[in-house]
Amino acid sequence: MIKEAKWIMASEVQKEACYEFYRHIELKDNVKSATLSVTAMGLYTAFINGKRVGKQILTPCFTDYSSHIQYQVYDVKNMLENSFELCFICAEGWAVGRTWGREHYNTNIALIYSLDIEYYDGKKVSFLSDTKTRARTSCVLKSSIYDGETVDKTVKKRELGNAVIDSKIKTRLKKQYGEKVTEQDVLLPVKLIKTPKGENVIDFGQNLSGYVEITVNGKYGDVIQVSHAEILDKDGNFYTENLRSAKQINTYIMDGSGKESFKPLFSWQGFRYIRIDKFPDEKIDLSCFKAIAIHSDIKRTGNFVCGNKKINQLYHNIIWGQKCNFIDIPTDCPQRDERMGWTGDAQIFVKTAAINFHVEKFFEKWLKDLASDQRKDGAVPNVVPALNPDLNFTGNEGTSAAWGDAATICPWEIYLAYGNKRVLENQFPSMKKWISFILSHSTEKYLWTGGEHFGDWLGMDNGDGSFEGATPKDYIASAYVAKSTFLTIKAGRVLGEDMSEYEELYKNIVSAFKKKFTEAGVPCIDTQTAYAIALNFGLCDNRKKTAEKLNNLILNNNTKLTTGFVGTPELLNALSYNGYEKTAFDLLFQESFPSWLYSVNHGATTMWEHWDGVKEDGSFWSSEMNSYNHYAYGAVFAWMFSYIGGINTTEEAPGYKEVIIAPHADKRLGFSRMEIETKYGKLSSYWYYDEDNVHYEFEIPKGTVARISVPGMDTCIVTAGRYVYINNTY
Ligand code: BGC
Repeated sequence: MIKEAKWIMASEVQKEACYEFYRHIELKDNVKSATLSVTAMGLYTAFINGKRVGKQILTPCFTDYSSHIQYQVYDVKNMLENSFELCFICAEGWAVGRTWGREHYNTNIALIYSLDIEYYDGKKVSFLSDTKTRARTSCVLKSSIYDGETVDKTVKKRELGNAVIDSKIKTRLKKQYGEKVTEQDVLLPVKLIKTPKGENVIDFGQNLSGYVEITVNGKYGDVIQVSHAEILDKDGNFYTENLRSAKQINTYIMDGSGKESFKPLFSWQGFRYIRIDKFPDEKIDLSCFKAIAIHSDIKRTGNFVCGNKKINQLYHNIIWGQKCNFIDIPTDCPQRDERMGWTGDAQIFVKTAAINFHVEKFFEKWLKDLASDQRKDGAVPNVVPALNPDLNFTGNEGTSAAWGDAATICPWEIYLAYGNKRVLENQFPSMKKWISFILSHSTEKYLWTGGEHFGDWLGMDNGDGSFEGATPKDYIASAYVAKSTFLTIKAGRVLGEDMSEYEELYKNIVSAFKKKFTEAGVPCIDTQTAYAIALNFGLCDNRKKTAEKLNNLILNNNTKLTTGFVGTPELLNALSYNGYEKTAFDLLFQESFPSWLYSVNHGATTMWEHWDGVKEDGSFWSSEMNSYNHYAYGAVFAWMFSYIGGINTTEEAPGYKEVIIAPHADKRLGFSRMEIETKYGKLSSYWYYDEDNVHYEFEIPKGTVARISVPGMDTCIVTAGRYVYINNTY
């Protein structure tokens, strides 16, 4: 019935304020069933007689609200009494408040709901949002995603009269099709620090996304205020400059009613440390604080452990990087004034994401939104959900190669991981539109030249301190046209489409690329990223020479990478599958900057955005673009899983129905245990060194066929069971 309800808003609207919409309801009979369907422009939490409805937070989650909005449906039968108050506290959230790239408010906080009741005698009644619902101010005074929340329990709520109809809202209502965001882990304080500046700081020992619940006794009017930060500066003081304009401050004013408990309803913070700015008690009792990590309710599927502590910590950081950034949408980071669904970050990480957690539904939702946000000519916005409600970015602007390619890469990876054809069916038109956009916006036929791109974002080889690496943007963009076209062809084949036109197109793209960007079969762009992409995307005829050049570039750079967002996920694959396994492992074990283990050595508990987020001397790279919780470089785990563990699903029977298991051992790891919970059951690949011999053990679930290749042994095809290979026998 929600579709028959009316959008309502408070008659008196003030910026930043939160509202409560409420009504008293009397029931006539015994209730057989009762469901509450509700959504809001902004964020809402529903209460029945003061009790919170459901466990979901940050409802109704994030979509392009100008196009559609999710509503949630709750079974509330057991919460109802004969007479009760139905109340919704509403705040700005993404729809109304400030978000990255949009400082203005373009809509009011508004609510729509329907409480549908069926009595035992078969009679039905629905209570719909309309002008019978009243509005009042809330003790949640204001709440913003970036800035935090202020709650004043002493405040007297002010009646705002009956709600009025908001007839401006034209968005479509869709029943929730994404994952729920819920509270997931509780972390207790590790220590209380008195900083050199005299600040009282609590360390939770882990960078996380969520909030701190504070439970304490206080007097009427006592104030609790906490600020949040990811890191301490070189002198050990609380550091928040990298949050840019995001304040991340929660403030609570107590009413003195006894032990009171506070946590924000409509905001979350990215933090490891909190600074206690105000507290009712001079002595800070750590037992009053607990950090609650939130994320989409995705089930953990992957597990990895090895004999190298630092690599284990890296893996831990990758897992937490995902937890912290999978909050309804795949965000770039959870702390500063962005937290957006950057398409490039998502496509880089999607393969890893689908190993670590069950992200099928999560990505299906985001990809539907990507398709719905796609401009008519096929341009994919750099962030999804898009921020420009009318997608008023023009031409090549606002859509970058390797970012917009999320339109083809993510559906394909989700198909591979779960064998889910539906995602390809849903996304196929969007995939084709993306290709057609590129080809009609290039200055040269069959390539993508002349666009506006991020290039090898944060690559280290430009030497000018800019955010963009040295690999030319035309090169990257044109290589991605080839990749996206190839994936679209594969998707089309799975769907039984005639792809001959695209096959022809692909041939032309590859030959145009080779003509423009290679000489004697080798890329003429001398960067690690250029060689790695050419090898992995099949864009160079002389693979041997290209791999040798890549290897030399790395060795001549003291076995260090120089790659950014585009090159890094390709690097170890390009090396290890083209004869340079040792260099690939050496890069993995590299500890000095730039490397994966550099951040581990500097105490990271999540993935850093920059290779040098903290410099050797303890100072920071910059405050402008310096997140300590960006999952992108965690994409290295896809290589670890498929190369070290050697687990790969085949394209012919995706979703781990058929797998190739071809592990690669390196003594520095000691052992490696790689596991994934597939829909057929647990699949694992374990190896360990016994002096110089490597022993292998594999577990294949029922329903999976595995082709196992162990060095020195013939490949064998097996079905369910446990297989042990010792000293080249089994
Ligand atoms: C984000 C990135 C994103 C990028 C685009 C940044 O501000 O944090 O992760 O992909 O912009 O280059």
